[in-house]
Amino acid sequence: MQSLEGRVALITGASRGIGRAIAVELAAQGATVVVNYRSNQDAASAVVDEIIGAGGKANAIGADVSQFEAAGDLVAQTIEQHGQLDILVNNAGIARDNLILRLGEDDWDTVIETNLKSVFNTCKAVFKPMMRKRYGRIINISSVSGIAGNAGQTNYSASKAGMIGFSRALAREAATRGITVNVIAPGFISTDMTEDLTEDLKDLSLAAIPLGRWGDAQEVAYAVAFLASERAGYITGQVLSVDGGMVMA
Ligand code: NAD
Repeated sequence: MQSLEGRVALITGASRGIGRAIAVELAAQGATVVVNYRSNQDAASAVVDEIIGAGGKANAIGADVSQFEAAGDLVAQTIEQHGQLDILVNNAGIARDNLILRLGEDDWDTVIETNLKSVFNTCKAVFKPMMRKRYGRIINISSVSGIAGNAGQTNYSASKAGMIGFSRALAREAATRGITVNVIAPGFISTDMTEDLTEDLKDLSLAAIPLGRWGDAQEVAYAVAFLASERAGYITGQVLSVDGGMVMA
């Protein structure tokens, strides 16, 4: 039996990059997958087609998860359409990098709302249904930047560190309800988000990665699939770095 057979998973920001890889992997493990997207419906449909083409089950639902009501509606629609929601992966995220002297208030607010408030929005919406079922897997995609800090990313690092504190607090609230809450902290992963980095920075990053290479979105997806499975039932409140050994704590 596939490890996620009979489970329903919602992945935010899943039309491309790491979210897309997570959606495809969870579907390959047997889960019915809801591919959330903010605006690119065509890209989300392509992910759904890929999953269905491979024999899996998926549909796409558009929602801006930084908005409290929209995130609540997304969760409600998922449950309405599939009767349950067992796995929530908070992957949606953006970066608006700048040194503090040039960082605008809007850069701060938008990144915090998209990366951190969205996690509150979706977790609040899934908590009651998961509690009633006495089962749930919540996996939040943070970053090494939230652990070690990164110059030019005070907003992004704060949002990603906030996700870790939030997840640990929620893990304690959720534990007696059969719900686990864990965090994945990717390092440098090749996606659209990182392709704009300068070649100098890319070369520099390699020196800080013991495994000597950037990671692939698929490698993050494998870690998510494990934490989403029943086999990870005794793991909660943890931060798993998928970063080639960059941050060892
Ligand atoms: P990406 O830009 O390719 O994908 C992010 C996705 O989130 C996009 O599809 C985007 O449309 C979606 N999104 C953004 N705001 C949204 C909103 N308000 N509502 C719904 N969807 C929204 O980036 P990625 O590299 O695939 O990153 C995925 C996650 O992994 C992000 O949270 C990112 O911070 C994190 N991460 C990435 C790396 C990396 O090296 N790529 C490293 C550490 C952490």
